[in-house]
Amino acid sequence: MINEKSAALYVIARPIFDRDAFRQFLTDENQTWLEGDNSTDAEKLIEAAGRICYMSFGQRQFRRGSSYIANLIARGHESVLEHASWSFLLCGVSRAFTHQLVRHRIGFSYSQLSQQYHDETEASFVAPRSVVRSPELRRVWTNAVESAKQAYSALLETELSFRSTELSKETRQEAMRLVRSAARSVLPNATETKIFFTANARSLRHFLTIRGAVEGDEEMRIVSALLLRELQPDAPTIFADFRIEELEDGTPIVKKCSCRET
Ligand SMILES: Cc1cc2nc3c(=O)[nH]c(=O)nc-3n(C[C@H](O)[C@H](O)[C@H](O)COP(=O)(O)OP(=O)(O)OC[C@H]3O[C@@H](n4cnc5c(N)ncnc54)[C@H](O)[C@@H]3O)c2cc1C
Repeated sequence: MINEKSAALYVIARPIFDRDAFRQFLTDENQTWLEGDNSTDAEKLIEAAGRICYMSFGQRQFRRGSSYIANLIARGHESVLEHASWSFLLCGVSRAFTHQLVRHRIGFSYSQLSQQYHDETEASFVAPRSVVRSPELRRVWTNAVESAKQAYSALLETELSFRSTELSKETRQEAMRLVRSAARSVLPNATETKIFFTANARSLRHFLTIRGAVEGDEEMRIVSALLLRELQPDAPTIFADFRIEELEDGTPIVKKCSCRET
C-alpha cells in the first residue's frame, strides 16, 4: 500500500506594515500622506516604499492607494514590489514539481525536506490527476511506485548491513547520508516532498505569469491557484491582473489579463 498526498499550502508569514514607524517618519519630515481607504498592509508597504523615491507626499501626491500601485506596475517600476514578501510551506507536491519550482532563482528562498537526512521509507507519493482518472493508468502507476518504494527499503537495509562495521569509523550521520543517497536514487519523481519558501510580490507575479497557465503542467497550475487564492486577499491591487479559471477536467488555470485600470 502506498500513501498518497495532494498539494496543501500553508501561509507562514505575510507582509506587515508598521504604521506607527512610518507615521513617525512623516511627522519628522513634516509630511502628510493620504492613504488608500482599503489598502492592505502589503499594499501600504509597497506604496510607502514607492513614495520615498520621489517623496510624493502632501502637495506632491497625485494618486492614492490602488491607483498608485496600478500605475507603478503599468510603468514597470516593479522593484518596489520586492518589499512585500510571503513565506509559504508547501506540502503534498512531487519532487518533479519542486525541481521546477527551485529554478526560480530571483526573489525566492527555499528550504526543502532532505532525502539524505530524512528516511523516506514511509514516503508518500503524488499521483497526477490524469492517472487517477483512469483505472488502467492508475494500476500501472501504483505498481511502479510500489516497486520503487520496495527497492528503496531493500537498498537501505542491504547498504546498512554492509556498512555496519564501518559505522565506528565514520560519523553515523555521514554514514546514513551515504546510505540514503544510494537508496534515494530509485525513488520516483512522484515522491512527495515539503518545501518552505519565501518570495516577494514581484517574483510571485513573474512565477504566476510564466507558470500559471501552462495547460500541460497540472501541478504547477494547482499550486499557482493555491498561491493566488492567498495572495489576492492580502494584496488585491498587486495581483488584480490574475484570475483563476477552470479547465474542462476541473483543474485550475491561472491567467493573466490586461484588465487593470491605472
Ligand atoms: C513552459 C516552460 C517550459 C520550460 N521548459 C524547460 C526545459 O525544458 N528545460 C529547462 O531547463 N527549463 C525549462 N523551463 C524553466 C525556465 O527556463 C526557467 O528556468 C524557469 O521558468 C525560471 O524562470 P526565470 O529564469 O525567468 O526565473 P528567475 O530565475 O526567478 O529569474 C527571474 C528573471 O530574472 C532575470 N534573470 C535571472 N537570472 C538571469 C541571468 N542569469 N541573466 C539575465 N537575466 C536573468 C530574467 O529576466 C528572469 O526572467 C521551462 C519553463 C516554462 C515556463
